Amino acid sequence: MLARTDLRGADVTLSQLRRALPRGGTDINSVLPVVTPVVEAVAEHGAQAALDYTAQFDKVRPASVRVPAEVIADARRQLDPQVAAALEEAIRRARLVHAAQRRQTTVTQVVPGGSVAEKWIPVGRVGLYVPGGNAVYPSSVVMNVVPAQEAGVGSLVVASPAQADFGGWPHPTVLAACALLGVDEVWAVGGAQGVALLAYGGTDTDGRELDPVDLITGPGNIYVTAAKRLVRGVVGIDSEAGPTEIAILADDSADPAVVAADMISQAEHDVLAASVLVTDSAGLADAVDAAVAEQAAATKHAERVAAALSGPQSGIVLVDDLETGLRVVDAYAAEHLEIMTRDAQAVADRVTSAGAIFVGPYSPVSLGDYCAGSNHVLPTSGSARYSSGLSVQSFLRGVHVIDYDRDALADIADRVVTLAQAEDLPAHGEAVQARFGGAR
Ligand code: NAD
Repeated sequence: MLARTDLRGADVTLSQLRRALPRGGTDINSVLPVVTPVVEAVAEHGAQAALDYTAQFDKVRPASVRVPAEVIADARRQLDPQVAAALEEAIRRARLVHAAQRRQTTVTQVVPGGSVAEKWIPVGRVGLYVPGGNAVYPSSVVMNVVPAQEAGVGSLVVASPAQADFGGWPHPTVLAACALLGVDEVWAVGGAQGVALLAYGGTDTDGRELDPVDLITGPGNIYVTAAKRLVRGVVGIDSEAGPTEIAILADDSADPAVVAADMISQAEHDVLAASVLVTDSAGLADAVDAAVAEQAAATKHAERVAAALSGPQSGIVLVDDLETGLRVVDAYAAEHLEIMTRDAQAVADRVTSAGAIFVGPYSPVSLGDYCAGSNHVLPTSGSARYSSGLSVQSFLRGVHVIDYDRDALADIADRVVTLAQAEDLPAHGEAVQARFGGAR
């Protein structure tokens, strides 16, 4: 039985609301004592240390960090044709959506002879982390690589844990997905040591250089996330991703079996995953509870699902009406938000905080996980209040280009001098005046 939070008749403030909502969370600090020495050792000793930790944590030592081209080509040849076709379609749709996100240079003519352009320059080299501890995530290859490529990133490397079952190379389906995307640089190293090697670089066992990257993106477990926190600053990171979340805002028009199936589908990820139903219908809440009990017992990963659904991060929130429901989902700011109400599009239009919004009964989160065309690397733990999912924008830097001619500068010079003096930085003003023979 899902835990219930009953907000009916309550007049709660925003801070009370945030505290009342089910929320789990991972304590990154708890693994820092393990992760910090790993990152420090890799920063100092490079690939050698990364491979030593791989042997320790993944129980296998690949012959090299860089996966040989023939291993990637073999994986592509041996990929199940149906999986290949599904991945190709996922890639095609993701490309459509992400190509539309490309940014154009904008030029603002501020005054005659004075302009500011903003141009978008791709990050030089990126490291895309693809998890590989408990499951295989070729979909994460797609979701990381496609926006980077569409942004025009010139150099990218995929890093994924070495697998003892596959001779120390990453899972063949991950390698095949890389091949389908035209990625030829893949490193067989994951966890904190993989993140650190991406940040600091090193020398491979065959003497080839493993160049450090400028930006690391991609989801991972708590060790990966802690390492991303530690290397932030040396490189950029996309986010500190926590366990996955689904919130569903539903009224009595929703099908309880479908709501239950969607809650279970995200609970399947992780014992810490959160599934939250927000509804104004006590009848729907009861029906979903019953459907969850029935479906969760029969699902393949029943134990994991049961743990996730019975954790403090999951449950049902009862509200008086959809108006309050909208307030609740905005305060919760779910990674994934499904709207299963009458006139779902109109309700969705009013949501202001969610990583991604899935409208109506035929737009499930599972579609977005794989084949909608949208990105599945999304802000978790309420960070959708101030951040976005992975996109082309994540791989671009906006650079202002300032171009004033003599007259345009002369025209504004006095104002610059005034402001410089007001900030007690007179040399700033003098730098402008020097161009006009100085003014003492
Ligand atoms: P992972 O690649 O993130 O982590 C595996 C690595 O963790 C191993 O290679 C090992 O080096 C390290 N490790 C394991 N135990 C350790 C220990 N005791 N000490 C130090 N290091 C240790 O793979 P995973 O574990 O399967 O986790 C994947 C995570 O990514 C899951 O939480 C999953 O839900 C999440 N995920 C999120 C998305 C998304 O888009 N939000 C997509 C896919 C996966």
